[in-house]
Amino acid sequence: MKFFFPDSQDLVDPGFDFEKERWSEARIRQRDDRYAHEIFRKRAFDGLLVSKGIVDGFGGVGSRYSLGQRNRLLRNGVREFFRLDNAPYDLPVMGDCGAFTYVKERVPPYTVDQVIQFYSDCQFDFGLSVDHVIFEFKSTWDADEAAVPPEIRERQAITLQLAREFLDRHRKSKPMFSAVGVAQGWSPNSYANAVKALQSMGYRYIAMGGMVPLKTPEILASLAAVAGVRKPSTKLHLLGVTRTEAIPRFASYGVASFDSTSPLRQAFKDDRDNYYTLDGAFTAIRIPQVEGNATLQKLVLSGAVDQAIARRLERACLAVMRDYEAGKAGVKDVVRVLMEYEHLARPHRSDSPVSKRRRSSTDNESAYREVLEVAPWRNCACEVCRQLGHHVILFRGAERNRRRGFHNLYVFYRRLQRELGRSAEAAA
Ligand SMILES: [Zn+2]
Repeated sequence: MKFFFPDSQDLVDPGFDFEKERWSEARIRQRDDRYAHEIFRKRAFDGLLVSKGIVDGFGGVGSRYSLGQRNRLLRNGVREFFRLDNAPYDLPVMGDCGAFTYVKERVPPYTVDQVIQFYSDCQFDFGLSVDHVIFEFKSTWDADEAAVPPEIRERQAITLQLAREFLDRHRKSKPMFSAVGVAQGWSPNSYANAVKALQSMGYRYIAMGGMVPLKTPEILASLAAVAGVRKPSTKLHLLGVTRTEAIPRFASYGVASFDSTSPLRQAFKDDRDNYYTLDGAFTAIRIPQVEGNATLQKLVLSGAVDQAIARRLERACLAVMRDYEAGKAGVKDVVRVLMEYEHLARPHRSDSPVSKRRRSSTDNESAYREVLEVAPWRNCACEVCRQLGHHVILFRGAERNRRRGFHNLYVFYRRLQRELGRSAEAAA
Protein backbone atom coordinates (compact mmCIF):
# COMPACT_ATOMS: atom_id res chain seq x y z
CA MET A 1 0.00 0.00 0.00
CA LYS A 2 1.47 3.32 -1.14
CA PHE A 3 1.04 6.55 0.82
CA PHE A 4 0.88 9.75 -1.23
CA PHE A 5 1.45 13.03 0.57
CA PRO A 6 -0.67 15.93 -0.75
CA ASP A 7 1.80 18.81 -0.84
CA SER A 8 0.57 22.41 -0.60
CA GLN A 9 3.97 24.07 -0.72
CA ASP A 10 5.01 22.80 2.69
CA LEU A 11 8.61 23.95 3.05
CA VAL A 12 10.95 24.81 5.92
CA ASP A 13 13.97 27.12 6.11
CA PRO A 14 17.00 24.87 6.80
CA GLY A 15 18.93 27.85 8.19
CA PHE A 16 16.24 28.99 10.66
CA ASP A 17 17.83 29.94 13.99
CA PHE A 18 15.65 28.43 16.74
CA GLU A 19 17.33 30.31 19.57
CA LYS A 20 17.13 33.75 17.98
CA GLU A 21 14.00 32.81 15.98
CA ARG A 22 15.29 34.31 12.76
CA TRP A 23 15.15 33.11 9.20
CA SER A 24 18.45 32.74 7.39
CA GLU A 25 19.68 35.92 5.76
CA ALA A 26 19.25 36.44 2.02
CA ARG A 27 16.87 33.48 1.96
CA ILE A 28 14.91 32.91 -1.25
CA ARG A 29 12.02 30.74 -0.22
CA GLN A 30 11.65 28.53 -3.27
CA ARG A 31 15.38 28.12 -3.81
CA ASP A 32 16.59 27.68 -0.23
CA ASP A 33 13.67 26.19 1.67
CA ARG A 34 13.37 22.42 1.83
CA TYR A 35 10.54 19.96 1.24
CA ALA A 36 10.03 16.99 3.56
CA HIS A 37 11.68 14.66 1.02
CA GLU A 38 14.80 16.84 1.14
CA ILE A 39 14.94 16.68 4.95
CA PHE A 40 14.74 12.92 5.45
CA ARG A 41 17.30 10.50 4.07
CA LYS A 42 14.86 7.66 4.62
CA ARG A 43 11.43 7.56 3.06
CA ALA A 44 8.48 9.29 4.74
CA PHE A 45 6.00 8.76 1.85
CA ASP A 46 5.75 6.91 -1.45
CA GLY A 47 4.69 9.76 -3.69
CA LEU A 48 3.19 13.24 -3.89
CA LEU A 49 -0.32 14.35 -4.74
CA VAL A 50 -0.75 17.78 -6.32
CA SER A 51 -4.21 19.31 -6.81
CA LYS A 52 -5.07 21.67 -9.63
CA GLY A 53 -7.51 23.47 -7.30
CA ILE A 54 -4.68 24.20 -4.83
CA VAL A 55 -2.23 25.28 -7.54
CA ASP A 56 -4.79 27.60 -9.17
CA GLY A 57 -6.52 28.63 -5.95
CA PHE A 58 -10.14 28.18 -6.92
CA GLY A 59 -12.87 30.50 -5.58
CA GLY A 60 -12.56 31.30 -1.88
CA VAL A 61 -9.61 28.92 -1.50
CA GLY A 62 -6.51 31.00 -2.16
CA SER A 63 -3.59 29.47 -4.03
CA ARG A 64 -0.61 28.27 -2.05
CA TYR A 65 1.45 29.10 -5.14
CA SER A 66 2.60 32.53 -6.27
CA LEU A 67 2.10 33.32 -9.94
CA GLY A 68 5.83 32.78 -10.51
CA GLN A 69 5.75 29.38 -8.81
CA ARG A 70 2.68 28.35 -10.77
CA ASN A 71 4.37 29.25 -14.04
CA ARG A 72 7.54 27.41 -13.07
CA LEU A 73 5.56 24.29 -12.14
CA LEU A 74 3.81 24.32 -15.53
CA ARG A 75 7.02 25.10 -17.44
CA ASN A 76 9.47 22.75 -15.69
CA GLY A 77 7.18 20.00 -14.47
CA VAL A 78 6.74 18.47 -11.02
CA ARG A 79 10.05 16.58 -10.87
CA GLU A 80 12.13 19.70 -11.25
CA PHE A 81 9.77 21.99 -9.30
CA PHE A 82 9.72 19.71 -6.23
CA ARG A 83 13.38 18.70 -6.73
CA LEU A 84 12.23 15.08 -6.56
CA ASP A 85 15.54 13.84 -7.83
CA ASN A 86 17.14 15.09 -4.59
CA ALA A 87 15.33 12.29 -2.78
CA PRO A 88 17.38 9.06 -2.69
CA TYR A 89 14.29 7.06 -3.77
CA ASP A 90 11.66 7.32 -6.47
CA LEU A 91 8.64 9.54 -5.77
CA PRO A 92 5.86 9.29 -8.37
CA VAL A 93 3.43 12.20 -8.53
CA MET A 94 -0.33 11.98 -8.83
CA GLY A 95 -2.43 14.92 -10.02
CA ASP A 96 -6.06 15.56 -9.22
CA CYS A 97 -8.50 18.42 -9.62
CA GLY A 98 -8.96 19.11 -5.90
CA ALA A 99 -12.73 18.66 -6.12
CA PHE A 100 -13.18 19.89 -2.52
CA THR A 101 -12.10 23.39 -3.65
CA TYR A 102 -15.15 23.62 -5.96
CA VAL A 103 -17.60 21.48 -3.97
CA LYS A 104 -20.10 24.38 -3.80
CA GLU A 105 -20.33 24.73 -7.61
CA ARG A 106 -23.12 23.02 -9.52
CA VAL A 107 -20.64 21.64 -12.07
CA PRO A 108 -16.81 21.36 -12.02
CA PRO A 109 -15.18 24.58 -13.26
CA TYR A 110 -12.61 22.79 -15.45
CA THR A 111 -12.97 21.15 -18.83
CA VAL A 112 -11.45 17.74 -19.51
CA ASP A 113 -9.03 19.38 -21.98
CA GLN A 114 -7.82 21.92 -19.39
CA VAL A 115 -7.16 19.16 -16.88
CA ILE A 116 -5.33 16.94 -19.36
CA GLN A 117 -3.24 19.97 -20.36
CA PHE A 118 -2.41 20.63 -16.68
CA TYR A 119 -1.35 17.01 -16.06
CA SER A 120 0.74 16.98 -19.25
CA ASP A 121 2.43 20.33 -18.59
CA CYS A 122 3.31 19.28 -15.03
CA GLN A 123 4.48 15.85 -16.24
CA PHE A 124 2.54 13.86 -13.67
CA ASP A 125 2.88 10.07 -13.46
CA PHE A 126 -0.83 9.61 -12.71
CA GLY A 127 -3.76 11.90 -13.52
CA LEU A 128 -7.24 11.61 -11.99
CA SER A 129 -10.34 12.20 -14.11
CA VAL A 130 -12.40 15.34 -13.42
CA ASP A 131 -14.84 14.64 -10.59
CA HIS A 132 -17.57 16.26 -8.54
CA VAL A 133 -17.44 15.28 -4.90
CA ILE A 134 -20.45 13.86 -3.00
CA PHE A 135 -20.26 14.34 0.75
CA GLU A 136 -23.65 12.83 1.67
CA PHE A 137 -23.65 9.15 2.64
CA LYS A 138 -26.55 6.96 3.74
CA SER A 139 -26.38 3.18 3.63
CA THR A 140 -30.21 3.11 3.88
CA TRP A 141 -30.47 4.68 0.43
CA ASP A 142 -29.47 1.28 -0.99
CA ALA A 143 -32.86 -0.11 0.11
CA ASP A 144 -34.77 3.03 -0.92
CA GLU A 145 -33.25 4.34 -4.12
CA ALA A 146 -36.06 6.82 -4.72
CA ALA A 147 -34.95 8.73 -1.60
CA VAL A 148 -31.61 9.74 -3.13
CA PRO A 149 -31.78 13.50 -3.86
CA PRO A 150 -31.51 14.26 -7.59
CA GLU A 151 -28.59 16.69 -7.16
CA ILE A 152 -26.56 13.87 -5.60
CA ARG A 153 -27.33 11.51 -8.47
CA GLU A 154 -26.39 14.28 -10.86
CA ARG A 155 -22.95 14.62 -9.29
CA GLN A 156 -22.23 10.94 -9.88
CA ALA A 157 -23.56 11.15 -13.45
CA ILE A 158 -21.32 14.19 -14.13
CA THR A 159 -18.30 12.40 -12.63
CA LEU A 160 -18.86 9.32 -14.81
CA GLN A 161 -19.50 11.36 -17.96
CA LEU A 162 -16.30 13.37 -17.39
CA ALA A 163 -14.36 10.14 -16.70
CA ARG A 164 -15.57 8.77 -20.07
CA GLU A 165 -14.46 11.95 -21.88
CA PHE A 166 -11.19 11.97 -19.97
CA LEU A 167 -10.31 8.43 -21.03
CA ASP A 168 -11.34 9.10 -24.66
CA ARG A 169 -9.05 12.15 -24.89
CA HIS A 170 -6.32 10.26 -23.06
CA ARG A 171 -6.46 7.46 -25.63
CA LYS A 172 -6.35 9.92 -28.53
CA SER A 173 -3.60 12.25 -27.32
CA LYS A 174 -1.54 9.58 -25.47
CA PRO A 175 0.01 11.81 -22.81
CA MET A 176 2.78 10.49 -20.56
CA PHE A 177 0.63 10.13 -17.43
CA SER A 178 -1.54 7.10 -16.60
CA ALA A 179 -5.27 7.82 -16.36
CA VAL A 180 -7.03 7.11 -13.06
CA GLY A 181 -10.83 7.15 -12.90
CA VAL A 182 -12.67 8.68 -9.94
CA ALA A 183 -15.65 6.95 -8.32
CA GLN A 184 -18.14 9.04 -6.36
CA GLY A 185 -21.06 7.53 -4.45
CA TRP A 186 -23.52 8.00 -1.59
CA SER A 187 -23.84 4.39 -0.35
CA PRO A 188 -22.06 1.02 -0.69
CA ASN A 189 -24.03 0.01 -3.80
CA SER A 190 -23.68 3.37 -5.52
CA TYR A 191 -19.89 3.19 -5.11
CA ALA A 192 -19.93 -0.34 -6.54
CA ASN A 193 -21.98 0.88 -9.52
CA ALA A 194 -19.49 3.69 -10.16
CA VAL A 195 -16.54 1.29 -10.07
CA LYS A 196 -18.36 -1.10 -12.41
CA ALA A 197 -19.01 1.73 -14.88
CA LEU A 198 -15.39 2.94 -14.74
CA GLN A 199 -14.07 -0.57 -15.31
CA SER A 200 -16.25 -1.03 -18.35
CA MET A 201 -14.89 2.24 -19.76
CA GLY A 202 -11.42 0.70 -19.43
CA TYR A 203 -10.02 2.10 -16.16
CA ARG A 204 -7.73 -0.22 -14.20
CA TYR A 205 -6.81 2.26 -11.45
CA ILE A 206 -9.76 3.85 -9.65
CA ALA A 207 -9.73 6.52 -6.96
CA MET A 208 -12.54 6.43 -4.40
CA GLY A 209 -13.66 10.01 -3.73
CA GLY A 210 -15.86 11.62 -1.09
CA MET A 211 -14.86 9.21 1.69
CA VAL A 212 -13.13 11.76 3.93
CA PRO A 213 -16.14 12.32 6.27
CA LEU A 214 -17.16 8.63 6.38
CA LYS A 215 -16.80 6.45 9.45
CA THR A 216 -14.46 3.48 9.06
CA PRO A 217 -17.35 0.91 8.99
CA GLU A 218 -19.01 2.93 6.17
CA ILE A 219 -15.77 2.90 4.16
CA LEU A 220 -15.38 -0.83 4.76
CA ALA A 221 -19.01 -1.51 3.77
CA SER A 222 -18.47 0.43 0.54
CA LEU A 223 -15.22 -1.39 -0.23
CA ALA A 224 -16.97 -4.71 0.45
CA ALA A 225 -19.68 -3.78 -2.09
CA VAL A 226 -16.98 -2.70 -4.58
CA ALA A 227 -15.22 -6.04 -4.03
CA GLY A 228 -18.28 -7.71 -5.53
CA VAL A 229 -17.67 -6.02 -8.92
CA ARG A 230 -13.94 -5.30 -8.88
CA LYS A 231 -11.82 -7.12 -11.42
CA PRO A 232 -8.67 -8.66 -9.90
CA SER A 233 -6.54 -6.35 -12.04
CA THR A 234 -8.26 -3.14 -10.82
CA LYS A 235 -6.32 -1.16 -8.21
CA LEU A 236 -8.04 1.26 -5.83
CA HIS A 237 -6.85 4.55 -4.34
CA LEU A 238 -8.58 6.11 -1.29
CA LEU A 239 -8.69 9.90 -1.56
CA GLY A 240 -7.92 11.69 1.72
CA VAL A 241 -8.48 8.70 4.00
CA THR A 242 -6.15 7.79 6.91
CA ARG A 243 -7.19 4.97 9.21
CA THR A 244 -4.00 3.11 10.00
CA GLU A 245 -5.87 0.53 12.08
CA ALA A 246 -7.97 -0.46 9.03
CA ILE A 247 -5.08 -0.55 6.55
CA PRO A 248 -4.74 -4.36 6.38
CA ARG A 249 -8.49 -4.66 5.69
CA PHE A 250 -8.29 -1.91 3.04
CA ALA A 251 -5.46 -3.85 1.40
CA SER A 252 -7.57 -7.01 1.34
CA TYR A 253 -10.20 -5.09 -0.70
CA GLY A 254 -7.69 -4.10 -3.39
CA VAL A 255 -6.70 -0.67 -2.05
CA ALA A 256 -3.24 -0.08 -3.48
CA SER A 257 -2.74 3.52 -2.39
CA PHE A 258 -4.18 6.43 -0.42
CA ASP A 259 -3.30 9.99 0.44
CA SER A 260 -3.76 12.16 3.52
CA THR A 261 -2.65 15.47 4.96
CA SER A 262 -3.60 14.42 8.53
CA PRO A 263 -0.11 13.58 9.81
CA LEU A 264 1.14 17.02 8.76
CA ARG A 265 -1.92 19.00 9.80
CA GLN A 266 -2.45 17.37 13.20
CA ALA A 267 0.91 18.82 14.25
CA PHE A 268 -0.74 22.26 14.47
CA LYS A 269 -4.49 21.77 14.00
CA ASP A 270 -5.29 19.13 16.57
CA ASP A 271 -6.10 20.07 20.18
CA ARG A 272 -4.27 17.07 21.59
CA ASP A 273 -2.51 14.76 19.16
CA ASN A 274 0.28 16.94 17.78
CA TYR A 275 3.39 14.79 18.02
CA TYR A 276 3.17 11.23 16.71
CA THR A 277 4.90 8.23 18.17
CA LEU A 278 4.73 4.67 16.84
CA ASP A 279 2.00 3.83 19.33
CA GLY A 280 0.16 7.08 19.94
CA ALA A 281 0.58 10.82 20.13
CA PHE A 282 1.53 13.60 22.54
CA THR A 283 0.28 17.15 22.95
CA ALA A 284 2.72 19.85 21.85
CA ILE A 285 3.69 22.51 24.37
CA ARG A 286 2.04 25.82 23.53
CA ILE A 287 4.23 28.87 23.94
CA PRO A 288 2.40 31.45 21.80
CA GLN A 289 4.36 34.36 20.36
CA VAL A 290 3.12 37.55 22.04
CA GLU A 291 3.64 39.44 18.79
CA GLY A 292 2.30 36.81 16.40
CA ASN A 293 -0.74 35.42 18.23
CA ALA A 294 -4.07 37.01 17.30
CA THR A 295 -5.93 35.93 20.49
CA LEU A 296 -3.17 37.24 22.69
CA GLN A 297 -2.88 40.51 20.77
CA LYS A 298 -6.63 41.07 21.23
CA LEU A 299 -6.28 40.57 24.99
CA VAL A 300 -3.37 43.02 25.06
CA LEU A 301 -5.29 45.62 23.06
CA SER A 302 -8.38 45.28 25.28
CA GLY A 303 -6.20 45.83 28.35
CA ALA A 304 -7.00 42.38 29.79
CA VAL A 305 -3.36 41.34 29.48
CA ASP A 306 -0.25 43.39 30.19
CA GLN A 307 2.05 43.05 27.18
CA ALA A 308 5.22 43.38 29.27
CA ILE A 309 4.14 40.56 31.61
CA ALA A 310 3.17 38.39 28.65
CA ARG A 311 6.57 38.96 27.04
CA ARG A 312 8.36 38.12 30.27
CA LEU A 313 6.40 34.86 30.68
CA GLU A 314 6.92 33.92 27.04
CA ARG A 315 10.68 34.29 27.48
CA ALA A 316 10.57 32.43 30.80
CA CYS A 317 8.80 29.50 29.12
CA LEU A 318 11.42 29.28 26.37
CA ALA A 319 14.21 29.52 28.95
CA VAL A 320 12.77 26.85 31.24
CA MET A 321 12.34 24.48 28.28
CA ARG A 322 15.98 25.06 27.33
CA ASP A 323 16.99 24.34 30.94
CA TYR A 324 14.85 21.23 30.97
CA GLU A 325 16.55 19.92 27.85
CA ALA A 326 19.93 20.63 29.45
CA GLY A 327 18.94 18.76 32.62
CA LYS A 328 18.90 21.95 34.69
CA ALA A 329 15.15 22.11 35.41
CA GLY A 330 12.63 19.49 36.52
CA VAL A 331 9.18 18.71 35.13
CA LYS A 332 7.48 20.49 38.02
CA ASP A 333 9.36 23.77 37.42
CA VAL A 334 8.63 23.66 33.70
CA VAL A 335 4.92 22.96 34.14
CA ARG A 336 4.57 25.75 36.69
CA VAL A 337 6.03 28.35 34.28
CA LEU A 338 4.09 27.00 31.31
CA MET A 339 0.79 27.10 33.18
CA GLU A 340 1.43 30.62 34.44
CA TYR A 341 1.76 31.77 30.84
CA GLU A 342 -1.18 29.67 29.68
CA HIS A 343 -3.50 31.16 32.30
CA LEU A 344 -2.45 34.63 31.28
CA ALA A 345 -2.76 33.95 27.56
CA ARG A 346 -6.10 32.13 27.85
CA PRO A 347 -8.01 33.69 30.73
CA HIS A 348 -11.44 32.24 31.54
CA ARG A 349 -14.21 33.84 33.54
CA SER A 350 -15.03 31.56 36.42
CA ASP A 351 -18.69 32.71 36.72
CA SER A 352 -19.94 30.91 33.65
CA PRO A 353 -20.33 27.12 33.61
CA VAL A 354 -19.45 27.10 29.90
CA SER A 355 -16.13 28.75 30.66
CA LYS A 356 -15.47 26.19 33.38
CA ARG A 357 -16.00 23.38 30.93
CA ARG A 358 -13.79 25.06 28.38
CA ARG A 359 -11.14 25.55 30.96
CA SER A 360 -10.96 21.88 31.80
CA SER A 361 -10.69 20.97 28.12
CA THR A 362 -8.05 23.56 27.32
CA ASP A 363 -6.00 23.21 30.46
CA ASN A 364 -2.93 21.34 29.33
CA GLU A 365 -1.24 20.72 32.67
CA SER A 366 -1.43 16.91 32.71
CA ALA A 367 -0.66 16.63 28.99
CA TYR A 368 2.47 18.76 29.47
CA ARG A 369 3.60 16.74 32.47
CA GLU A 370 3.19 13.56 30.45
CA VAL A 371 5.11 14.72 27.38
CA LEU A 372 7.93 16.21 29.49
CA GLU A 373 8.36 13.04 31.52
CA VAL A 374 8.63 10.91 28.39
CA ALA A 375 10.50 13.51 26.25
CA PRO A 376 9.69 11.44 23.15
CA TRP A 377 11.80 13.61 20.81
CA ARG A 378 14.93 12.21 22.51
CA ASN A 379 14.08 8.74 21.27
CA CYS A 380 13.11 9.63 17.71
CA ALA A 381 15.60 8.78 14.97
CA CYS A 382 14.21 11.24 12.42
CA GLU A 383 16.34 14.14 11.20
CA VAL A 384 13.89 16.74 12.57
CA CYS A 385 14.11 15.49 16.16
CA ARG A 386 17.87 14.89 15.91
CA GLN A 387 18.45 18.48 14.80
CA LEU A 388 15.79 20.34 16.80
CA GLY A 389 15.78 18.61 20.16
CA HIS A 390 13.04 20.05 22.38
CA HIS A 391 12.09 22.74 19.85
CA VAL A 392 10.12 20.10 17.91
CA ILE A 393 7.58 19.82 20.75
CA LEU A 394 6.99 23.59 20.97
CA PHE A 395 3.73 24.70 19.38
CA ARG A 396 4.99 28.00 18.12
CA GLY A 397 5.47 29.51 14.65
CA ALA A 398 5.44 27.76 11.26
CA GLU A 399 9.09 26.66 11.28
CA ARG A 400 8.61 24.51 14.38
CA ASN A 401 5.03 23.45 13.68
CA ARG A 402 5.69 22.36 10.11
CA ARG A 403 8.81 20.44 11.11
CA ARG A 404 6.74 18.62 13.73
CA GLY A 405 4.36 17.83 10.85
CA PHE A 406 7.29 16.39 8.87
CA HIS A 407 8.25 14.28 11.89
CA ASN A 408 4.64 13.02 11.98
CA LEU A 409 4.86 12.02 8.31
CA TYR A 410 8.02 10.08 9.08
CA VAL A 411 6.42 8.28 12.04
CA PHE A 412 3.14 7.73 10.22
CA TYR A 413 5.01 6.01 7.38
CA ARG A 414 6.67 3.68 9.87
CA ARG A 415 3.32 2.89 11.52
CA LEU A 416 1.94 2.11 8.09
CA GLN A 417 4.79 -0.27 7.26
CA ARG A 418 4.30 -1.98 10.60
CA GLU A 419 0.56 -2.43 9.89
CA LEU A 420 1.50 -3.96 6.56
CA GLY A 421 4.05 -6.22 8.22
CA ARG A 422 6.98 -4.57 6.43
CA SER A 423 9.97 -2.79 7.86
CA ALA A 424 10.23 0.86 6.79
CA GLU A 425 13.93 0.43 6.17
CA ALA A 426 13.25 -2.44 3.78
CA ALA A 427 10.59 -0.35 2.05
CA ALA A 428 12.98 2.57 1.58
ZN1 LIG B 1 11.16 12.80 14.94
